[in-house]
Amino acid sequence: MTDMKQLEERLKNAFYWFHEYPELSYEEYNTTAKIREILESYHIEILPYDLETGLVAVIRGEQDGPVQMLRCDIDALPIVEQTALSYRSKTEGKMHACGHDMHIVAGLGCAVLLQENRDKLRGTVKVVFQPAEESSLGALKILETDIMENVDFVWGFHADPTNAAGVIGIREGYVTAAVDRFVITVKGIGCHGAHPDDGIDPILVSAAIVQALQSIVSRNVNAFHPSLLSVTRICAGTTWNVIPPEAVMEGTVRTMEREDRVLYEKKVKEIAEKTAQAYGAEAVVQWIAGPPATYNDKKMADLCEQKAKEMGFEVVLEESSMGGDDFAFYEEKIPGCYVKVGTGVGHPIHHPAFAVNPEVLLPTAKYLTEILLG
Ligand SMILES: [Zn+2]
Ligand SMILES: [Zn+2]
Repeated sequence: MTDMKQLEERLKNAFYWFHEYPELSYEEYNTTAKIREILESYHIEILPYDLETGLVAVIRGEQDGPVQMLRCDIDALPIVEQTALSYRSKTEGKMHACGHDMHIVAGLGCAVLLQENRDKLRGTVKVVFQPAEESSLGALKILETDIMENVDFVWGFHADPTNAAGVIGIREGYVTAAVDRFVITVKGIGCHGAHPDDGIDPILVSAAIVQALQSIVSRNVNAFHPSLLSVTRICAGTTWNVIPPEAVMEGTVRTMEREDRVLYEKKVKEIAEKTAQAYGAEAVVQWIAGPPATYNDKKMADLCEQKAKEMGFEVVLEESSMGGDDFAFYEEKIPGCYVKVGTGVGHPIHHPAFAVNPEVLLPTAKYLTEILLG
């Protein structure tokens, strides 16, 4: 039997190490090596997938049952850490500011506990240490392999600094939004700033497009469906007395319902192209689809709630977010559930002073284990 005190100590030390040595999306080489080292020290089987970064541990139960997957994302962010933690980042300009270091360690703890409880485990659990969540596309690296081929359910979790340690946020239905990106290039005709009649001003056209895009949410989308569009970058010109030939803008669309995603893509293209046309310019729209919305299966959410209550956690309604998670790519194939684990109230995720209370590590590992034991 694993000594719980000893396990907790090891998890905390591992957490400090991961926090000190953060690695960005697709560069998680040392992180992956450390995860492997810890799994091997507990004699946990690692599947022989040839992933560049990230890896998959497997725990085979002694009873028949489904194949379940637990997703733990492992990458950090390009942020200069501003905490006074003794184990703050030793890699300048990189930081675990989204709590993925906690995800790794809770996943490792869960793998250890499941391994020990193989007699009670029905079926198989794959613990997937996934790269590059912050890129929104890391899950696709896992989906390129056959890791998910026989998986029946997928579970995910995220550190939540809006709640105290000991609080679990659960909601059935949509919890994060679909994340799409657009780039609009407006092509006009450049000329002297004093002779606009000689050209076609792409800046004026862009301004009209930005205004009109906001009519999608207010006039086209069902008022009961959450969605938004933000133009976040607009770029044109080089000086004060020249009208440039081109303007480029980009932004993001967030939706929950699949039909709204389709509607936005169609309307953004239509508005940009036709507005530009009305001004004698041309607009070229590039649409870059990211992950869909994350949707919590009711039965799975109920199990998460039941287990949390049995274990003495406080259960609150998980807040839905217009942020996204590439976890949703897995849910395009199979049912899933994604819960929020309170990590101590403090600075939000992606903030330079974000911090996780290490006291949540072992309880989170135990909670995930209970869910997977069913
Ligand atoms: Zn993040
Ligand atoms: Zn995250």
